[in-house]
Amino acid sequence: MTERKTALVTGANKGIGFEVAAQLGELGFRVGVGARDAARGTQAVERLLAAGVDAFAVALDVADDESVRAAAAGWTGGLDVLVNNAGISGGAQDPASRTSPDQLRAVLDTNVVGVLRVTNAFLPLLRRSDAPRIVNVSSSMGSLTLQHGESAGSGPVGGAYGPSKSLLNALTLQYARELRDSDVLVNAVCPGYTATDFTGHAGDRTPAQGARIVVELATVGDDGPRGGFFDENGVLPW
Ligand code: NDP
Repeated sequence: MTERKTALVTGANKGIGFEVAAQLGELGFRVGVGARDAARGTQAVERLLAAGVDAFAVALDVADDESVRAAAAGWTGGLDVLVNNAGISGGAQDPASRTSPDQLRAVLDTNVVGVLRVTNAFLPLLRRSDAPRIVNVSSSMGSLTLQHGESAGSGPVGGAYGPSKSLLNALTLQYARELRDSDVLVNAVCPGYTATDFTGHAGDRTPAQGARIVVELATVGDDGPRGGFFDENGVLPW
């Protein structure tokens, strides 16, 4: 009998992260539901358990060193998949000229440093898996090519969010390079414009649709990509 695989999804109490947890659960994963708020995490776990998912709550604020350290120290069993999903918009539509230093610092601390914190804390566990995967939930708004594209780029002009995802993509590449001789596959994905609290429910896709590309890369075979950037239509330009 093969052992049940385990995943950790950050920011899984709602939105795309919740759906990633649900879909990984459907595939037979035991899922750690990362949430910075204990009550929201417990509620999400209850919904997942009711849907038949083997879920458990993980208190995890990605912007807090101690919280991340404690989550890793308290982890029991193995870890096969890490989905760095937690993110904040930090005023995704605020142009750079109206972005404050504190605003940029806060977005980077969650969207980029948060990924570094969590990844470094859980990498020792992942390395022991026979099929370890890391998926960083990025955005096409972090694509320098698309931002610089014809018709003056895509999406709103913003000083904090897009650049945070560009930096997340850069970090993803560096992890992939560092881990190229290991079994750990690290990739970045864009879920597409999705109706969640994040977008004020303005996106044209459901969270379940947004979650699919995340789950695809989280469960890709050993010959899967390393250091790539994908959406549901394939490779995205950096
Ligand atoms: P939501 O706002 O619905 O969910 C975000 C999740 O991240 C929540 O669970 C939130 O927790 C959590 N979170 C925020 N900060 C922290 C933190 N410091 N520690 C732990 N958890 C935290 O957004 P989405 O589901 O839409 O977004 C998920 C990811 O997808 C983000 O990385 C986003 O950038 C990315 N994305 C989304 C797109 C979209 O159109 N929706 C498009 C492209 C990318 P809490 O409930 O406590 O706030």
